[in-house]
Amino acid sequence: MASAGRAGVGTNQEDVRRHNLGTVLGHVHRAGRLSRAELTARMGLNRSTIAGLVAELESLGLAEQAKPSGARLGAGRPSVDVKARTGAYVLAVDLRVDGLTVARVGLGGVVQSRATGPVPFGHDPVAIASSVVELMRLVVKDVEPGAALVGVGVGVPGIIRAEDGLVRLAPNLGWRDVPFAEILADRLGAIGVPVLGNDADLGALAEHLRGAGVGVEDLIYLSGEVGVGAGVIVSGHKLEGAGGYAGEVGHMPFLPDGKLCHCGAYGCWETEIGAGAIALAIGCPPERVGALGEFLEGVHDAPPDLRLVGQHLGRGVAGLVNVLNPRVVVLGGYLRSLFPLVHEDVERELAVHALTAPRELVKVTLPGLGGDSVLHGAAELAFEPLLADPVGRLATACLDADAALSA
Ligand SMILES: [Zn+2]
Repeated sequence: MASAGRAGVGTNQEDVRRHNLGTVLGHVHRAGRLSRAELTARMGLNRSTIAGLVAELESLGLAEQAKPSGARLGAGRPSVDVKARTGAYVLAVDLRVDGLTVARVGLGGVVQSRATGPVPFGHDPVAIASSVVELMRLVVKDVEPGAALVGVGVGVPGIIRAEDGLVRLAPNLGWRDVPFAEILADRLGAIGVPVLGNDADLGALAEHLRGAGVGVEDLIYLSGEVGVGAGVIVSGHKLEGAGGYAGEVGHMPFLPDGKLCHCGAYGCWETEIGAGAIALAIGCPPERVGALGEFLEGVHDAPPDLRLVGQHLGRGVAGLVNVLNPRVVVLGGYLRSLFPLVHEDVERELAVHALTAPRELVKVTLPGLGGDSVLHGAAELAFEPLLADPVGRLATACLDADAALSA
């Protein structure tokens, strides 16, 4: 118990034990499976304490022991593995301007079930909440009896006030000061209040924990959808800014005589590299922007207009590299389909505009989680209360999500 005490967490033994229980669960959740010996090493606690904590997680239905899969550590007996169990799950929502994805995600970050649907015309928040609930009903249908729903996380393409989930501004949804957490909570009943996060921040979180940025302390996740935003991790910590609104790189002033942006300004970066600009460059009709990824997959030689989008992407990334000195820049959303087509243009602009020292350290890459970075980030956000206090969170978890959603 000494290590948690040294960290200054917990004022008495019970607090320390609860904290340690959450920390063990966090390690198991992030690794999916690891040996008791590895857990002991990571936690800095003795073997019998770890065994007791693992036994408690087993009795809570959150972990199970399994035969060791890896090589022996040292000369002793092979250590038993600890695996995440499906006794607890979250609902993750990726709300995009042009589509909705809802997933049931188990401990260990396993997507157990998913459903997608269109976003109601006009982006009315109440109608969107109804669509989200419809998709949730689909993904909880075959949930294991007795499994506990421990949180709901939602990725939103906008600026979110963390304490109450108020969407301050989502220019491409046409939202200003929309209390979406409250609106969705009204429909979730016994499930409780959802947690909202900015889509790019969640993409960064997920890529950092499970994707292209594992073990990387400085990374930028660039989310290229209808709008463009960045989730930035600096020295292992999320860059927040004074109000939590940092990372709105899509609204960096880019071209002095550029196009009108949804935010009201002219010449923002996203007007040159967002979905609208990509669609225009390849002749994808505006009403088909939701299928832009498929359109891009059908392009084999980038036309000049698309290469210009690639140059604008590279020049903006060069600016971010100069300011933030990241190790990895992950290109998510439509940029994922764009990058292979304009890779050379991006690299050339980086070579011209990024300073040599930070440029030598940076890798521009595709997401390790494919198109699911934001979805996984929303799940991680929803798991946070369980990992902070497994016993406390399970005590108030929803055990019949289907009934709660149908009420
Ligand atoms: Zn703008």
